[in-house]
Amino acid sequence: MSKIYYPVIGLEIHAELNTKSKMFCACKNDPDETSPNVNICPICMAHPGTLPVANKQAVQSVIKVGLALGANVADFTEFDRKNYFYPDIPKGYQISQYKYPIVSGGELNGFGITRVHLEEDTGLSKHDRGNFTLVDYNRAGVPLMELVTEPVIHSAKDAADFAKELQLLLRALGVSEANLEKGEMRVEPNISVSDTEGVFGTKVEVKNLNSFRSVERAIEHELARMIALYEAGRADEIVQETRGWDETKQTTFSQRSKENAHDYRYFPDPDLPKMKLHSAFDIDTMRATLPELPWSKRVRYAKDFGIKENDIELYVSDPTLSAYFESVVEGKDAAFAQLASNYLSSDVIGLMKKDAEAKLPNKDHFIELIVMVTDGQVTSRGAKDILAVIVKNLEISPKAIAEKEGLLQQNDEGSLKPIIEQVIKENATMVTQYKEGKEAVLQALVGMVMKITKGSANPAVTAKLLKEIM
Ligand code: ADP
Ligand code: MG
Ligand code: ZN
Repeated sequence: MSKIYYPVIGLEIHAELNTKSKMFCACKNDPDETSPNVNICPICMAHPGTLPVANKQAVQSVIKVGLALGANVADFTEFDRKNYFYPDIPKGYQISQYKYPIVSGGELNGFGITRVHLEEDTGLSKHDRGNFTLVDYNRAGVPLMELVTEPVIHSAKDAADFAKELQLLLRALGVSEANLEKGEMRVEPNISVSDTEGVFGTKVEVKNLNSFRSVERAIEHELARMIALYEAGRADEIVQETRGWDETKQTTFSQRSKENAHDYRYFPDPDLPKMKLHSAFDIDTMRATLPELPWSKRVRYAKDFGIKENDIELYVSDPTLSAYFESVVEGKDAAFAQLASNYLSSDVIGLMKKDAEAKLPNKDHFIELIVMVTDGQVTSRGAKDILAVIVKNLEISPKAIAEKEGLLQQNDEGSLKPIIEQVIKENATMVTQYKEGKEAVLQALVGMVMKITKGSANPAVTAKLLKEIM
């Protein structure tokens, strides 16, 4: 019989901050630059005699993250040199933080955070040109935030959810675009398995994960690999190392054995001044003026609008859409908000996904349409036809479309009456059947009226009139 195993996961997550300039020089921080080595200067290339100057906006961004996480913002903080020799590091060292990170403590999704610090990104090596490597230093020196969690996560799903929530937070704070696919956010899970509760096993770190799916898959794969080694009595073959993720094979593979902190010979960077954050920044005001955070937005949306959980997630992850939604439902009741949200989340988004030309409708037109549906002026079928037009044409109003296309629902008893009388006259046998108690016949008669009116008759009004006249 197999034993019980205890998985432990701790995350190291890097995010490129979306500042205008790099971390220690005036070079542009432009992730969309396609020409290599244009955003470089003697400072980020570490030419002798140059001096770095810390980017205030980057420091501010990390403080905001710390405040949002309910963490401690250090008063004293400093930058350190982390020495290592890879060609993607033009200095021969990376400026990072070791002993005194800007942020420590706090939590996200209930998982404790060890620290959040600031460092500079490396350049980008390109190994796809045959037997030599090219290096692009546009990225070297871009501000990079690193968040480290405590080893307190116990499942692949919780780890991926943590990373997703952090992405939402970084976007809500406006400090990083945080796309995994573009490498703007990099999630590196540390994973171990133990067969004894409370005792940690040897950990590995996995790199090259460029989607949340890969994060989850890689952790699952790694846990299974370790458990299989335990089961085979070969747990001693689990070594502390860095492993890569092979997206095609969906497996991890050994990359290199892990360096220890002393290998990096950290020491405080003598070229950069120490910082006293509580004097340099008004931390209380920064805390009080944070934008609405994802978890607060979820609570507010549930309370104010009572909309579906999936819809709430849609707005939490898409600020443009949520701003639009809020402008549509401003001053309206919850029923209106729910209806508007249904049309937005399923129909409008669906149309926009199918057709690159489709846009969010003119706000007033969208409101007009929802009112028309609520008042029974159009059927839900008609509303869908109108939506398909107003996502493409922001000028034309739903009323105008409904009139032009004959989509206005006929609620007017006066104009429906002659049609109903005609249907009754032409279907005497069915009328008799109904009178003898065959209730189902009523629906068939309503259907005939709908057919004659091309779907514009209000079915409820039609049924009521049919009963009265028969
Ligand atoms: P290192 O010095 O090897 O980088 P750290 O102590 O800095 O290790 O931890 C790095 C990350 O690994 C942190 O997120 C931490 O929570 C996690 N971690 C530490 N020990 C383990 C373990 N035994 N299993 C899984 N994760 C761990
Ligand atoms: Mg570490
Ligand atoms: Zn530069």
